[in-house]
Amino acid sequence: MTKPFIVAIDGPSGAGKSTLGRRLARELGLLYIDTGAMYRAVALAAAAAGVKDSDAEGLTCVAHRARVRLEGDPDSLRVFLDGRDVSEEIRGEAAGRGASVVSAVPGVRRELVRRQRELGEAGAGCVLDGRDIGTVVFPSADVKFFLTAAPEARARRRLEEERERDAARDFEETLADINDRDLRDATRADSPLAIADDAVVIDTTELSVEEVFDTMLRTVRDRQPGGSRRGEAEA
Ligand code: C5P
Repeated sequence: MTKPFIVAIDGPSGAGKSTLGRRLARELGLLYIDTGAMYRAVALAAAAAGVKDSDAEGLTCVAHRARVRLEGDPDSLRVFLDGRDVSEEIRGEAAGRGASVVSAVPGVRRELVRRQRELGEAGAGCVLDGRDIGTVVFPSADVKFFLTAAPEARARRRLEEERERDAARDFEETLADINDRDLRDATRADSPLAIADDAVVIDTTELSVEEVFDTMLRTVRDRQPGGSRRGEAEA
């Protein structure tokens, strides 16, 4: 069996990981795994079970018990928690904040990292987006990207998405939330957000989706087995 081709995309929230990850997966015909959705689903399960943020053992138990399924194409990915479609619910602000709390618990991370590796190794390859893909989940990924952008740009993008669900959200609130989440993700003891030594870092603040996509696709094509496409990459 040939080794699956793994593309890791890490970075803070709102940097463009999921937009670019989906697109790249579609273009390359690979599976797309939104690892943030898995942490969000566990946060929903914990809230439903009434487990407190401070109860690490309880949260670990919830993570072990929760059945999280990602289904469908990269563009129409649906997320199921214990058989229930939670695709919309996990995008809410509460699930986002909850995810950043449960994801700091080592037992929760261990279980979800185990599942992510299992999913990623099952097929021909995949694109995963998250915070620790290139550093912890797949440290020997074929290609690693770290996408970043200025906090204001990331808050603007997040706000656009959030306004589809909650028209009353304002910029300052979203910016504060993003800063809060970034700080928690970057300072937690277990697998903090970090740039892998061999990651290609792209600052997307001033770039269009198209420009970032082109750069990423060229990088991937260059490293795909069977094709040094240097000419193409440099064109
Ligand atoms: O990417 P998304 O905003 O959906 O992730 C929600 C939260 O889940 C992040 O703020 C982060 O705390 C956590 N997360 C993580 N590791 C991952 C993916 C997400 O800690 N691989």
